[in-house]
Amino acid sequence: MLMQEERELVVEYGKKMSAARLSTGTSGNISIYNAEKGLVALSPSGMDYFSTTPEDVVILDLDGKVVDGKRKPSSEWALHTTFYKHKPHARAVVHTHSVYCTTLAVLGEPIRAVHYVIGDAGAAEVPCAPYQLFGTEALAEAAMEVCGKSDGVLLGNHGLVCCGKDIKGAYGLACNLEYIAEIQCRAMSIGKPNVLTEEQMAEVMVKFQSYGQPGAKKTGY
Ligand code: 13P
Ligand code: ZN
Repeated sequence: MLMQEERELVVEYGKKMSAARLSTGTSGNISIYNAEKGLVALSPSGMDYFSTTPEDVVILDLDGKVVDGKRKPSSEWALHTTFYKHKPHARAVVHTHSVYCTTLAVLGEPIRAVHYVIGDAGAAEVPCAPYQLFGTEALAEAAMEVCGKSDGVLLGNHGLVCCGKDIKGAYGLACNLEYIAEIQCRAMSIGKPNVLTEEQMAEVMVKFQSYGQPGAKKTGY
């Protein structure tokens, strides 16, 4: 089976995403990019994460042309391929409808540096793209337009999309951003959150470079 390892990981992380309640029902989608092959393994559209098998995962090229697989690919294929086209380090993309990220996206608010772990996104703020219809190239374009150097973007009235240098990193970032979004929403509900300054975040970024075990392959924080 073409890209068996990537297909298995898409299935594994789909279950994780659903079990962690980062997505409800069949919402959200996951992909992994094999840069050597120039191909993407993408979750199928509208399928229950716990009944999806590696055979259900669809293989497509960066133009969205299906190369292998019998299922219809995720309606957000353009959102995923746009990340791979514009973010050279991206090897996996995770799209969620997680509750607190979506709450901020409904307000059109970015995720701010209310907690230093936002540095995992590679930026001090995760912007919010204006609303666009799901499953459209306009949505993918809107996300990329506001993204800047952040590895994550909120999608107006919709959810979150983020990338990483592997699926562990992309999924970890989706978890961290949901955590920070929750803290931000809770803080906003009882007061005005303190937001870390650019200088404080620059310091965090430097410190992240030596975080964890020396020589260990880091894929997130
Ligand atoms: P798919 O089931 O087609 O992946 O769509 C889910 C979704 O979240 C659309 O934005
Ligand atoms: Zn969605």
